[in-house]
Amino acid sequence: MLAAIVTLLVLGGIAYAFTQVGGIITLVLVAAVLYLAYRRSSLLVFSVTLTLLIGAYTVLGAPAGAWKAILWIVLALAWALNVRPLRKLLITRPFMKAYLRLLPSMSATEREALEAGTVWWDGELFTGAPRWERLLATRPAQLSAEEQAFLDGPCEELCRMLDDWDITHRRGDLPPEVWQFLRTRGFFAMIIPKAYGGLEFSAYAHSCVLAKIASRSTTASSTVAVPNSLGPAELLNHYGTEEQKRYYLPRLARGEEIPCFALTGPRAGSDAASIPDTGVVARGIWQGREIVGLKLNFSKRYITLAPIATVVGLAFRLFDPEHLIGERTDLGITCALIPRETPGITIGRRHFPLNIPFQNGPIEGKDVFVPLDAIIGGPKMAGQGWRMLVEQLSVGRCISLPSNATGGAKAATWATGAYARIRRQFNSSVGRFEGVQSAIARMVGLTYIMDSARTVTAGAIDAGEKPSVPSAMLKYHVTEMGRLVANDAMDVHGGKAICLGPHNYLARGFETVPIGITVEGANILTRSLIIFGQGAVRCHPYVLKEMNAARNPERRRGIDDFDAALFGHMGFAISNAVRSFVMALTLARVQGVPDKGPTRRYFQHVVRFSASFAFAVDVAMLTLGGYLKKKENLSARLGDVLSAMYLASMVLKHYNDEGQPAEDLPIVEWACRHLLYQAQEQLHGFLRNFPNRFLAGLMRVLIFPRGLTYFAPADRLARRVAELVTNPTEARKRLCRYAYTSLEPSNALGLLEEALELAVGAEPIEQRIRVEGVRTGRVTALDLPGRIEQALAAGIISESEAASLRDYDRKVMELIRVDDFAPHELGVRAEREREARVEPAPRAREHVA
Ligand SMILES: Cc1cc2nc3c(=O)[nH]c(=O)nc-3n(C[C@H](O)[C@H](O)[C@H](O)COP(=O)(O)OP(=O)(O)OC[C@H]3O[C@@H](n4cnc5c(N)ncnc54)[C@H](O)[C@@H]3O)c2cc1C
Repeated sequence: MLAAIVTLLVLGGIAYAFTQVGGIITLVLVAAVLYLAYRRSSLLVFSVTLTLLIGAYTVLGAPAGAWKAILWIVLALAWALNVRPLRKLLITRPFMKAYLRLLPSMSATEREALEAGTVWWDGELFTGAPRWERLLATRPAQLSAEEQAFLDGPCEELCRMLDDWDITHRRGDLPPEVWQFLRTRGFFAMIIPKAYGGLEFSAYAHSCVLAKIASRSTTASSTVAVPNSLGPAELLNHYGTEEQKRYYLPRLARGEEIPCFALTGPRAGSDAASIPDTGVVARGIWQGREIVGLKLNFSKRYITLAPIATVVGLAFRLFDPEHLIGERTDLGITCALIPRETPGITIGRRHFPLNIPFQNGPIEGKDVFVPLDAIIGGPKMAGQGWRMLVEQLSVGRCISLPSNATGGAKAATWATGAYARIRRQFNSSVGRFEGVQSAIARMVGLTYIMDSARTVTAGAIDAGEKPSVPSAMLKYHVTEMGRLVANDAMDVHGGKAICLGPHNYLARGFETVPIGITVEGANILTRSLIIFGQGAVRCHPYVLKEMNAARNPERRRGIDDFDAALFGHMGFAISNAVRSFVMALTLARVQGVPDKGPTRRYFQHVVRFSASFAFAVDVAMLTLGGYLKKKENLSARLGDVLSAMYLASMVLKHYNDEGQPAEDLPIVEWACRHLLYQAQEQLHGFLRNFPNRFLAGLMRVLIFPRGLTYFAPADRLARRVAELVTNPTEARKRLCRYAYTSLEPSNALGLLEEALELAVGAEPIEQRIRVEGVRTGRVTALDLPGRIEQALAAGIISESEAASLRDYDRKVMELIRVDDFAPHELGVRAEREREARVEPAPRAREHVA
C-alpha cells in the first residue's frame, strides 16, 4: 500500500514537472524510455520509439526551446550509434586502445584459473534479470537405488561402529576394524568409475555419505573426504594415462593404496601457485638402468592422510635446464604420483589438528628420483598441474567441506532442538525462552540454507555443471554458517557441551569448525579475493568477452567483438540502473516471476537485488578497474551480495524440489529474509565505503531511493521456526535427513529423539502434578522422582502415568549427564604411566549434572 502511494506520488510529480515543459507526450516519452530500458530493448527499437515520440511531440506543437533541442540531439546520437562503422571509428577503437593499456597482463595460468569450470546460476545473478526457468528446470538431486542402499547399509553400519570419544581421546586414530571397513566397503572409491572397480557415485550421493558420517564423527568424515576429493584418484580420472588408470584406480578403489595430495608447504599456503618445491628433468638410475626422470626436492606440511599414505600426489615446479624433454626451461607446476617407499622421502610424523585426529602430517623429499611416467598424464602433462588443479577444484570444493559442515549442522540442530525441550530451568523447557528460541531459529534457518546449497548445487553438478564460483561461495558460506550453528548449539547446551568425555556429543564438532574454515582456500582469502574476483570476470555477461576481444591478435575480428560487447555492456548498465530504481521504488511488486505462491515475494526480491548488484558492479569496475582487487573489503561485500542471492535461490529451488511442504514455510521465510537482509546490508556497506562519494550518492539514489526497506526475520517468525525442531515434527526430520539418528544405546542423536517424543506425553502429566499437586500443597517434593511418588499416592496421576514419567525422567537424566575423571586419567603422561603398570583401564565415572 505504502509502495503504491509512493509510486503514485513520484509519477504524479513527474507528470506535473513535465506539463510545465511540454505536456503529456513528454511524460509518455520518459515512461517509454524507462520501459524500454527496463525491458532491455535493442538500440534500434529504442531509436525508432524515440523518433515516433519526438516526432509527435514536435507535430503536436510543443513550444520550441532548449528541451526540444536536447531531445533532437539525443535522437541524432541514438541513430548515429546504430551506424556500426561510424561508432567503431569514433568510439570503439579509441576506447579499446585505452582499455588495453589499463588491462592488467594475465599469465596463461591465471587465464586458465579464470576460465576453469562452467557458469551456471551465478551467471544469471550477474545479469540483473535472472531467468528463473533455468534454475527451476534443473533436475532435482536424486539418489539411485544403489546409492540409497549404500547409505542405508554400509554407511549406517559404519556410523554404528564409530565411537568418537574412543577415536579422538583414547586412540588418536580410527580403530583398525574401521580402517578395514572403509578400505574394503568402497568408502574411498566413490568418485572412481565402475570400469576401474569404483562406486561411481553421483555428486549428490557422495555429498550425502559425507554428511551422514560427519553427523557421527568428523575424524571419520575427514578421512573419507580426502581420497574422494581433489587428489590422485580425481586427477587420474581426468588426466591420467590409460596405463596409470589401469594400475592405480582399481588399487585405490579396493583400498590397497591410500592416497594423499601434497601441495601446501611452509612457504606457500594460500598462495599455493608460488610453491618453491622443485622437480628437475635429469638423468638418473632407476631400477638399475639409466633413464631420464625427475629429481624432486620438496617440503610439505598439513597433508591429510600423509602419515599412512602409500602413494603421494605431489605438486612441484618443473624445470628442464638441459632441455631433455623440450625447448622450455621452466615448465611450471606439475603433478606426479610418488610411491611412499621411493628413496629420499621422509614421511610418517603427524600433526595434531585441534583434537580431531584424522591422519595429517608433513612430507619431506630430498633428491627423490622417479621416472617421467610418474607425472599424472605422462610427460605431455608436464607444466599442466595448475590447470588440472583449478579445473577439478570447482567440483570437489562444492562437496567435501560443504557436506561435512552440513552434516555437522544437522546433528547439532537435531540434538539442540531435543535438548532444549527436555532441559528444564525456571520450571520450563529452556526452548520456550525467547533468547534460546532465537538461537535455535538461527540454527534451523542456517542449516536449511546449508542443506539447500549443498543439495541443489550437487544436483547441478550431476546435470553436467562444474560451477567454479558457486564452489567458492559454498566453501566460504557453508563453513561459516557451520561455525554459527556450532556456536549456538554450544550456547544452548551450556555446561553439558563444555565438559569433554564420552557423553559430550557436540564439542568435537565445535572443535572441527576452524579446520573446515582453513582448508581448501582459507575463508578470509576466499571471501576477499576469490568469490567476487573470479565471479566478476567469469560470470559477468560482458567483461570476459571484452577482455578476450581486446586481446584478440586478429585485430579486425577483435574490434567487431569488442564493439558488440561494449555497446551491449552500455545498454546492460543503463538497463540495470533503471531496473534497480524502479524495483526499489515498487519493492519489486511489478516484477513477474514464475512462482505465484507464498514465496513469490522472495523471488521478486532476488531479482531486485540482482539488478542493483549488477549496476553497482559495473560502476565499481568502470571507476576502480584493477584497483578493485586491492580494495578487498569492497570486493568481499559484493561477493556477499552475490552469495546471499545465490543461497536464497538455492533455498527457493530446494523448497520447490521438496514439493513445497507447508510446514517448512516458516523456515524458508526465515532463510530468505535472513539472506536478503544480508544482501541489503552488504550492498549498503559497499556504498558507505565506496571511495568516490559522488558516485556513491548517485548509486544510493538508484539502489535505495526509499532507504533500507528490508528487515531481518521477526521474533514471531523465530518462535515458529524454533517450535518446528523442539517438537517431533516432519519438518525436523526433513531438515536433518541423512544425519545418523538411529536409536541405539551409543547414539545420543537417537536417544534425544526418543526423549523428545516422550516429552510430548510427559509434559501434560507434569503440568497436572504442578497444578493439582504443587499449587495445592499436596505435592511438596522438590525433584521429579519425589513428585511422581507423591502425586501417585495422592491420586493425581495413575500408575501407568507414573511409570511413563519415571521412564522419561530416567532417560532425560541419562542424556544430561556429563563425565568426570580421576586426576590420573587426564594427561597423556599419566595415561602412559598407568598403561605401563598394566592396570585395568579405569572407566570415566559419570556424574549427574
Ligand atoms: C588440517 C589441515 C589439513 C590440510 N590438508 C591439506 C592437504 O591434504 N593437502 C594440502 O596440500 N594442503 C592441506 N592443507 C593446507 C591448507 O590448504 C592451507 O592451510 C590453506 O591453504 C591456508 O594456508 P596457511 O595455513 O599457510 O595460511 P596462510 O596462507 O598463511 O594464510 C593466513 C591468513 O591470511 C589470509 N590470507 C592470505 N592471503 C590473503 C589475501 N590475499 N587476502 C586476504 N586474506 C589472505 C588467509 O585467509 C588466512 O586467514 C591442510 C591444512 C590443514 C590445517
